[in-house]
Amino acid sequence: MDNYEPHIYELSQPGKHGTNLPRLDVPESELPTDLLRQDGMNDFPELTEPEVIRHYTRISQRNASPDTCFYPLGSCTVKYNSRLNEEVARYAGFAAAHPLQDAVDSQGALRLIYELQGYLGEIAGFSDVSLQPAAGAHGEFAGILAFRAYHLDRNDHDRIEVLVPTAAHGTNPATAAMTGLKVIEVKGHACGGVDLDDLRTKVSPRTAGMMLTNPNTLGLFENQILEVCQIVHAAGGLMYGDGANFNAILGIAKPGELGFDFMHYNLHKTFSTPHGGGGPGSGAVGCTEALAPFLPGPRVRLAADGTYELFTPAKSIGRMKSFHGNFGMLVRAWTYIRTLGEEGLREVSEIAVLNANYVRVRLKDIYPQAVERICMHESVLKGQIVGAPKDIRTLDIAKRLIDYGFHPPTIYFPLIVAEALMIEPTETEGKRTLDSFIEAMRQIAREAVETPELLHAAPTTASVRRLDEVRAARQPILRYDREAIARVRAE
Ligand SMILES: *Cc1c(COP(=O)(O)O)cnc(C)c1O
Repeated sequence: MDNYEPHIYELSQPGKHGTNLPRLDVPESELPTDLLRQDGMNDFPELTEPEVIRHYTRISQRNASPDTCFYPLGSCTVKYNSRLNEEVARYAGFAAAHPLQDAVDSQGALRLIYELQGYLGEIAGFSDVSLQPAAGAHGEFAGILAFRAYHLDRNDHDRIEVLVPTAAHGTNPATAAMTGLKVIEVKGHACGGVDLDDLRTKVSPRTAGMMLTNPNTLGLFENQILEVCQIVHAAGGLMYGDGANFNAILGIAKPGELGFDFMHYNLHKTFSTPHGGGGPGSGAVGCTEALAPFLPGPRVRLAADGTYELFTPAKSIGRMKSFHGNFGMLVRAWTYIRTLGEEGLREVSEIAVLNANYVRVRLKDIYPQAVERICMHESVLKGQIVGAPKDIRTLDIAKRLIDYGFHPPTIYFPLIVAEALMIEPTETEGKRTLDSFIEAMRQIAREAVETPELLHAAPTTASVRRLDEVRAARQPILRYDREAIARVRAE
């Protein structure tokens, strides 16, 4: 715990204050005593405004972000978020709109929702879209609930199994389990795709559907996608598309035309809205006409008189989120799509794929590729450096990258690859950045052989050294506890 930043409570000094309230312009009156706070007032830290600003600004500067460094976190599509999107999201008509305002007073906001539903539907080849879910995982949850509702509506009661490939993102089996359905794993093929023979033995009249991402989590296009969809559909199941990897195929392939029935879009990945660090995101969902009656609502449609109105689909699984989803994210995504247009969106994917392959080709002689194939928007390499000591692991390589000023790629995912390093550069990076990242990775490989202690000690330039992740998970200190912090610091 070197470089310790005092907690705001430790900076507090009695009598200081940072508020400057305007002079009272109404007569003073007594509040009922039962509404008055009886205790706890003295628990607030006392500081001046500049002290508070400096404290929080200093803490914010300890973050790595796409505004400060290259952030090739595989599967997460951390791209640069255009400031134009931010400006539009701050327009008073959007930022200050109240979600309880009547539709007649919110026509502009409803029109934006309506148009975004249409754009997303068009881009992915789906007839209907709901913007309710707040994250990819939330969209998955909506999708599997919709699958279940669809089957039950047809009096098809035995469909309680969801097929999930072994390469899947953890949210897929977690979602299926949360809806109460049973997860059935489908094996992968040596070429990186789904093992069709295994799939054929797993589909049955109990199959509610299959969850699949294309490109998959190895960054590879699933070439057998038409057969996969055909096998699942022939068994009466539905295809759920995990759209988190959509950045690879914008304007090139439409999941709806590949055979998917339902898909989530991560607006905070592909459509350039910020990843909220667990905060606001958007996992909009699109689907075929057959599933549209089950979509979460409210959605927006154009009424006969030319105005926009809210409606909830006839057999809707219900609400996923209060009001209209994370509206600020929707404004950013709308702006992003309108700024780029059809050609621009296609170019996003072309450059994202080109960048990923450039990095892959220039690193794979040192960091072997998990499956040797041309990749899509990301590649999965292995942190098994030829000639390095056995105890140099992917974790050490990732930590050393921090010393070189890069956010590490995703590591140890997908689970099916030993020592995985999943690199997703995205289209917003230029050649100069990619070259310096490649040079850092090659330098780290040399260090791994010649001075491995540098890797074990990393990071040395960050504000905290390597953390004891096991202890942080087992004995977390989740709220301010002066004694616990002092104890840890003394160790
Ligand atoms: C990010 C991701 C998800 C989950 O999306 P969240 O918005 O983080 O909930 C699902 N699948 C894949 C492949 C992802 O990369």
